[in-house]
Amino acid sequence: MSDMRDRVQAVLPGVRADLEHLVRIESVSADPARHDEVRRSAEAVAELFRAENFDQVDIVSIEGGLPAVIAHKAGPAGAPTVLLYAHHDVQPENDHADWDSPPFEPTERGDRLYARGAADDKAGIAAHLGALRVHGDDLPVSVTMFIEGEEEIGSETLTALLTEYQDRLKADVIVIADSGNWDIGVPALTTSLRGLVRLDVEVRTLTHAVHSGMWGGLVPDALMTLARVLATLHDDQGNVAVAGLHAGPAADVEYPEERLRAESGAAPGIEWIGCGSTVERLWTRPALSITGLDGPKVAGASNTLVPAARARISMRIAPGDTTANALDCLVRHLEASVPWGATLTTTLVDTGEATQIDATGPAYDAARAAFTEAWDGTEPVDMGVGGSIPFIAEFLEAFPEASVLVTGVEDPDTRAHGANEGLHLAEFERVVLAEALLLRNLG
Ligand SMILES: [Zn+2]
Repeated sequence: MSDMRDRVQAVLPGVRADLEHLVRIESVSADPARHDEVRRSAEAVAELFRAENFDQVDIVSIEGGLPAVIAHKAGPAGAPTVLLYAHHDVQPENDHADWDSPPFEPTERGDRLYARGAADDKAGIAAHLGALRVHGDDLPVSVTMFIEGEEEIGSETLTALLTEYQDRLKADVIVIADSGNWDIGVPALTTSLRGLVRLDVEVRTLTHAVHSGMWGGLVPDALMTLARVLATLHDDQGNVAVAGLHAGPAADVEYPEERLRAESGAAPGIEWIGCGSTVERLWTRPALSITGLDGPKVAGASNTLVPAARARISMRIAPGDTTANALDCLVRHLEASVPWGATLTTTLVDTGEATQIDATGPAYDAARAAFTEAWDGTEPVDMGVGGSIPFIAEFLEAFPEASVLVTGVEDPDTRAHGANEGLHLAEFERVVLAEALLLRNLG
């Protein structure tokens, strides 16, 4: 073990230099003007793996998509194949004035290395590289690299890539290094993601607008009627009141109040809604929000009964639930809740399934042991994510036989996608060590 730690120490300066080189390339996939930079970044990634003696290193893309890198290096005969995923494109840096140092110039301040992509997800590539270098040419497993170039714009050609290169990407274990750890000093494996159902609901109470003085008191207006429908979606404590939705337990971890206040953006005095532990409410129970409303604007509103009003409902569904069940429950609830004979119509906007990764079996045992060792005895938390990372479901679907491990370099203060994105350097060292130990354990 101390030998492994020494080797991590020895490879870190080189890994850091390679990370900084990648970060200086402005591979912003959302900006067509910088797609040449995305291509340059794919070249730079490919070059890194050529230098590691990978035998097949290719830059691949599907018509209309951005370049990914696939590379392979064989381990001992009979050893499992491990696919290491990360992405080399980054989010736009947005207003440079919000950054304390230039977004594409890696800058060390305090515990962190700041730059766009210094964490998400060029540090994912660097972590893979570090783990590989710890083992050098004595890899305990066969390794396939898959470094995507369009994750930040929704991985549009990922399914096509996974199909086209299925034979080359086939693996026993898939390590997706694009999530994070629970806290500085506390590792995590991301094991569940909520799904999403978005539904538009329209309420109609009149065939046309009429004078509110002449008819108010007898005919209900649509906005007030819609408000009553929406008010039934939660109980008084703020729990989702739609019957039939799935909810499950989450890991037994505390989300400190101070961190919640700092990270959530809740206005002073706002009370948390719902029951159950904080992380259950964020990861493994349904949540329901109204994200848009259509009705007349307040400025210029006339003395008229509003005939129709619409709202968009955004429902996060728990791992273990299906969008079909959740949609059915929601529509039935709305139809049963509309008062006064109003007409209610619903239109589905879109859906995304929840993901529950089977976090058991030898690959998970290997990962938990590696993480616990790298973090000096602190076991990894089974972390949920409230939103969805759609590409994880694509991997699970494309390779149903493989064990999928979702790891990453991020911590609660990484600020991925924001200004002053930063990689915690001491934690990064543990991430590299953990992955090196994981490869050893899998071997
Ligand atoms: Zn990412």
